[in-house]
Amino acid sequence: MKQSLAVALLAFALCGSAAVWKLTSEATPALRTKVVPLLEIVHQHGDPFQRFPESFPLQVAVFWTNPGTDPENPLPLVHSLKEMGIPFFITRDLPQALSHRLVILYPSVDSHTFTEPQADQLTTFVRQGGFIFAQNVFWGGLQHLFGFRSFAPSRKRYHLAFSATKDPVTKYLNRPEELETQLGSDHFSEIIWSNGYVADPRAEVLARFDDGSAALLTNSVGKGKVYLLGLSLLDVVLRNQNNRDYEAQRHYVNAFEPGADVWLLVLRAWYEAYGKDWVRLSTIPGGQRSALLLSHDVDWENSFAPGLDFARIEKANQASSTFFIQTKYVDDANSKAFLFAPNIDILRQLKTSGSTLGSHSIIHSRGFNKFELGSGHETYSSYQPRGLGFDTASGATVFGEVRVSKELLDGEIPDQDTIFFRAGHLRVPVSLPEALERSGYQFDSSFTADDVLSNFPFALPRDLGFEEDSEIYEFPVTIEDEESPGFTKRVPQALQAILANAENGAVSVVLIHSNESTQKAAAEQDLLRQLPPDIVKTDMMTFAKFWRARDRLQWSLTTTSEPIEAVLQVKSYEPVTGLTFEFQRPIETVTGAATVSPDHRHLVLPELAPGHSVSIHINYLH
Ligand SMILES: [Zn+2]
Repeated sequence: MKQSLAVALLAFALCGSAAVWKLTSEATPALRTKVVPLLEIVHQHGDPFQRFPESFPLQVAVFWTNPGTDPENPLPLVHSLKEMGIPFFITRDLPQALSHRLVILYPSVDSHTFTEPQADQLTTFVRQGGFIFAQNVFWGGLQHLFGFRSFAPSRKRYHLAFSATKDPVTKYLNRPEELETQLGSDHFSEIIWSNGYVADPRAEVLARFDDGSAALLTNSVGKGKVYLLGLSLLDVVLRNQNNRDYEAQRHYVNAFEPGADVWLLVLRAWYEAYGKDWVRLSTIPGGQRSALLLSHDVDWENSFAPGLDFARIEKANQASSTFFIQTKYVDDANSKAFLFAPNIDILRQLKTSGSTLGSHSIIHSRGFNKFELGSGHETYSSYQPRGLGFDTASGATVFGEVRVSKELLDGEIPDQDTIFFRAGHLRVPVSLPEALERSGYQFDSSFTADDVLSNFPFALPRDLGFEEDSEIYEFPVTIEDEESPGFTKRVPQALQAILANAENGAVSVVLIHSNESTQKAAAEQDLLRQLPPDIVKTDMMTFAKFWRARDRLQWSLTTTSEPIEAVLQVKSYEPVTGLTFEFQRPIETVTGAATVSPDHRHLVLPELAPGHSVSIHINYLH
């Protein structure tokens, strides 16, 4: 590195800045690349009935109320249920839906949704012991069932507070940040639509908006019960995840912000309260409670060598991490190039010693979110981006930053297949999911968890929109090291956010820049040592692969002749270890290589080979 820098400086002195690149590129050996094929976008099957079919009685039935010419698709609900591991199917057949014990009406119910006889069927269903979760019911024909007298739509309700209640759906909401959430910043004169209900005296209000109207209410009818939400999961889950919210977050980073998670937890608690002998696919592998995902950003010429210290300390604490590498091969206004020996040798050492590597772009521009997508044909030999300052650049594209960095990492580091990306300065262009998936990536970590108000990983929607998911999964950053007063002074605060997430089965992502290792690595070790033993500490890549396999898993649970025995069938499309199912009923014995946790309620699967189905016979305790 010293030699090439000296050449660069000499060249600069002799020829002026315009000629620097040319001379240095002649003086230093060209970097090795590996071809990155440009992939086509694969659109999911458009029909949600076929993608999410009925297959076993325990599934929640989603009755899709709005399949018209301009439908609000079920994506927000699909995100919520899949992230929580709740089994479900989607249907337009009301009798089919009502043959299941738990039914969700989505996305809304108006005077065109049901006929009078169907309204009677819904009421009979609940009276006989059925449970319905609905949002935005506007039809007078169902107001008696749902327990409201009137409603008022508004875009000016900014806060929501859960009531002190013993209702089981608020079971997981115990912290102040969960009991009160913000729907949007009051810097906006209008935010998301909400429907404030005036409840019937028979109904119980579980959450209220700031104007006192009911946001979530419940009504018991006969043996069953209904829940009604005056918001859409599109606005309180998906809109936060794709960062098109009205700045609803209360912090940007380093704090616990569950503004979207509360709705996932309400659905989870609803399923667990009313599902009969329910089973849920756990969010964390190995029967553990939570996971701490470690990462480092290497985005400065002196950030490479300290990375080895972090890796060593992590290994000594039974942990590992993912390093996101800025592959800077050009000089520009922000810094000189630094992707050459010995820095590349350090990356190879990190890789062989068990760390995983991702891309952290090339020029690390704070203007990345404004870059053009590019052609997709950018390569190392032709792509010449330049930062003109922190926020502006010339010759740079989203495709270029994503693809060429992968070409270089895959070319220079043996056995490297770069599939994880993190944007410089966490600036996210709407075209990022497309550039990533078409360049063969699978994972991204460019948002903060506070900003997307969610601490669970999620499928990143294409164009950061509302229509369909991309192939990319997002793992937002919970804790970072640069906010004042610096990570070394914030370990107890970081631990609090990690423990709050652990209570919910969510994960925490830690980002520490490897620009120095003495103080920061000591602080990281301090954090790792204080971590409860049921929080897994792992690199981001390992967990991301688990999450992808989990999200694509097919499974079913059928009860055999006697209710004390059940069969769990699982098919994974990817190799995966440690998949865990949580059971309402305690398990006595299981067949095969699966193991049961000491609490008898968690079943941990052995390693699954891709494409194979396994059947596990379960005997419940009785
Ligand atoms: Zn960075």
